[in-house]
Amino acid sequence: MTRVFVLVGVIVVVALAASWLSGNPGNVTIEWLGWRADTSVAMLAFLIVLLTVLVAIGYRFWRAMLAAPGRFFDARRMRRRRLGYQALSSGMIAAASGDTAEAQRQSRKAEDLLEDASVTRLLRAEAAKLNGDTATARRTYEEMAEDPETALIGMRGLLEQADDRGDRAEAMRLAEKAHRQHPKARDVVRRLLDLQVEFGRWDAADRTLANAIRHKAFPPAEAKRWRSAVLLERSRLAESDGASVEALALAKQAYQLDGSRVPVAAHYGRLLHAQAKDWRAKRVLENAWKSQPHPDIAAAYEALFEGDTDLERVNRAQRLLGFRPDHVESHLAVARAALAAQLWGEARAHLDQAAEQGVTPRICRMMAALEESEHDDGAAARIWLERVADADPDPVWACDHCGAVAGEWTARCGNCNAFDGLSWHPPVQAPRVTREASVPALPASI
Ligand SMILES: [Zn+2]
Repeated sequence: MTRVFVLVGVIVVVALAASWLSGNPGNVTIEWLGWRADTSVAMLAFLIVLLTVLVAIGYRFWRAMLAAPGRFFDARRMRRRRLGYQALSSGMIAAASGDTAEAQRQSRKAEDLLEDASVTRLLRAEAAKLNGDTATARRTYEEMAEDPETALIGMRGLLEQADDRGDRAEAMRLAEKAHRQHPKARDVVRRLLDLQVEFGRWDAADRTLANAIRHKAFPPAEAKRWRSAVLLERSRLAESDGASVEALALAKQAYQLDGSRVPVAAHYGRLLHAQAKDWRAKRVLENAWKSQPHPDIAAAYEALFEGDTDLERVNRAQRLLGFRPDHVESHLAVARAALAAQLWGEARAHLDQAAEQGVTPRICRMMAALEESEHDDGAAARIWLERVADADPDPVWACDHCGAVAGEWTARCGNCNAFDGLSWHPPVQAPRVTREASVPALPASI
């Protein structure tokens, strides 16, 4: 719009000037270097305007000539880049769908077209990995590890290769290096932690988790629970080394991070008792009982009152029952104390109440002991012992990953090395398969 106004303005000005010049005619004489030119003022003005227009057109043409090769190369570069990224994405899709040959072809094409090697290396590594060319994959991952932009991807690739080779020491070295450079990368922290746990390097695992908590690499509750498990292992090691003060300090730390965990509370309570801090031990164990009654807590609690009379110990067990009156472990704790105190009626009443929630081998054995002690009834005791085989299994510490059963809780599964995999539940039993069901029926025609 403005251009139209400018054009109209120019036409008006030129028309006015032309009419003014025709109304005021005059002559111009130019003498220069022996030349003489006579012309009218109107012609001179026309010549000046014509010259200006010609110079402007010439200048624009000259600029266009200068820019032409650059524009040509720019367009070529853009086209190459577009084709390069197309090859890269086609290659990635081919790699993801397992098409080795296509992935490799597109990888070579992308590398040819794209100047930035950092974006094409990943595809090269993936294609090489698919093709089973571990040497090329490794070399590419190493190149990526050198480039700050792709260092983490490179180290992840190398770590995966070390794991595939079963080279644990190399995996540990790589995980440590990757973790130093990228302390927030969750998968790297987790891999490092698993390796440290596998090697039983509890001090290092503790540092890793403290670092992870600081960098918020894991959800806080999860990280605290894990660190509590690691601190418990450190405390156990210190205890076995005779460093009882350190063992207690570590157990306290573990308890503060996750006091609801049965093995942590039981261990802490036991160490407090060992250092004559019974009042504190009692509180720790009673609180644990309130949240989860458990035989390990009961054992640590009963140990606090070893010097008491049998009747006093029944009262202690009654106190636990008061905290969780409905729980089977509460009834078993009272029954155990009552058996020791020869309070047969009391023992039987609580065993009956425990049995209402399922007859387990533990209850059968205690019933057998009761029949034997109260009535000296060997036959009745034997009947109870025979029921053990068919009784519902007692809960155990078992690994959630491999199902292995452990005598006591440990932060690492003794069978599959899984970290923090043990939990308290009835052992998982293979489903019973009847003979008829396991043998497929033959078709009638045969
Ligand atoms: Zn396991």
